[in-house]
Amino acid sequence: MSKAIRCGDIVPGCEYVARGQNEDEVLARAAEHAKRDHGMESIPDDVIDKVKSAIHDE
Ligand SMILES: [Zn+2]
Repeated sequence: MSKAIRCGDIVPGCEYVARGQNEDEVLARAAEHAKRDHGMESIPDDVIDKVKSAIHDE
């Protein structure tokens, strides 16, 4: 089973889905996407908490 997060759960309207084998991998991909596509150089702690709670099994 892998983990995934829909960026749209955090950023309304974004279709991106980050997938990985574990939470760390999903977080790394989500951070990369946020930087590239949303111009976020660093992710605030409260957003990371939101992202973690939005990660689900797939
Ligand atoms: Zn996004």
